[in-house]
Amino acid sequence: MLNVRKIWENSNIPALWPDLAASVRFDEPMALHTSFQVGGPADLYVEPSGEEELGALGEALFSLGIPVSLVGGGTNLLVSDKGIRGAVISLARLSSIRKGEETGGSRIVTAGAGVSMETLVEWCADRDISGLERFAGLPGTLGGAAFMNARCYDLSLSEVFLSARVLYFGPSGYTIMTVPKREGEWDYKKSPFQGVKARHPVALERGDSLIASVTLSLSAGSSPDIRREMEKYRADRESKGHFRYPSAGSMFKNDRSFGKPSGAIIDGAGLKGFSVGGARVADWHGNLVINTGGATASDIRTLVEEVRRRVLGQTGFNLEPEVIFAGEW
Ligand SMILES: Cc1cc2nc3c(=O)[nH]c(=O)nc-3n(C[C@H](O)[C@H](O)[C@H](O)COP(=O)(O)OP(=O)(O)OC[C@H]3O[C@@H](n4cnc5c(N)ncnc54)[C@H](O)[C@@H]3O)c2cc1C
Repeated sequence: MLNVRKIWENSNIPALWPDLAASVRFDEPMALHTSFQVGGPADLYVEPSGEEELGALGEALFSLGIPVSLVGGGTNLLVSDKGIRGAVISLARLSSIRKGEETGGSRIVTAGAGVSMETLVEWCADRDISGLERFAGLPGTLGGAAFMNARCYDLSLSEVFLSARVLYFGPSGYTIMTVPKREGEWDYKKSPFQGVKARHPVALERGDSLIASVTLSLSAGSSPDIRREMEKYRADRESKGHFRYPSAGSMFKNDRSFGKPSGAIIDGAGLKGFSVGGARVADWHGNLVINTGGATASDIRTLVEEVRRRVLGQTGFNLEPEVIFAGEW
């Protein structure tokens, strides 16, 4: 087995990048970094503070032969109980926000991929910038929302996305480029950034890119109106019990061809309240799988597979998980 700690400590990275090295934690429980609050240890967990550090880190890890994974807020992930081998990079420190040009009613905002959506939404509201109200209460980071093309109250992130700065790890080093929005590359819960990661959803390999920052096209508004809207969406989430227990939000994608939402299908199959260990289909929402306390990742995964099997058997619908299974299963 790869001794990641030894490889890291014997490399020249800690001496070259002391600030980066200071952010490293070994055997870091991923349960601390996922909204499900489950998941075993990452061999090495690291938080670079800027693009240059991030690029150098990626290159160093590739050349040391340490597998690399990337997490945002961990709010759409189910990390296995065995954890994640190699290094997990968190972009939490890439969190600056700045205003760009203002023309007429349009407002341009650029933010680091690691900023939480809540912080970004609040920042915009403070500055009379409208357009992100529906994302109020969305857990996770801007990078994760762009990668997943998060969708809240009929608004997809793609609808306010202008461009992203990405680090592309090519065969002989990394380059930073700006990727503009191209029509046809985005769809329901699909972004152009997912294609390259189809093999292993959180792994970063040569030939992959990661989002370092995102530029959004927003509009002028008035803070009290923006806040009123935000509170409406937050209250709706509260009333739907989103935050009552640890979860990763909707477990399954909604497939329009099924003619009804996945939650209604699961409810129709009599599976609300269905439990495996500490994992349970919420009594109040068929598409919400919750950790009632003490659930393991394997409880949750077993429950998900059983729900899929029973729904398929009863209705013929093959539910597709939206939550990403990460780590060693
Ligand atoms: C209570 C609750 C409610 C939710 N409601 C909604 C909702 O209404 N709508 C919705 O769409 N989702 C919802 N979600 C799911 C989740 O919050 C979103 O999918 C969110 O956008 C994921 O962001 P994250 O930063 O947590 O990503 P993570 O879960 O950490 O990662 C998801 C994927 O994105 C990749 N990724 C993360 N950052 C980057 C980056 N910078 N560059 C490249 N790849 C990256 C990761 O490698 C991984 O493959 C909800 C979740 C919870 C817990």
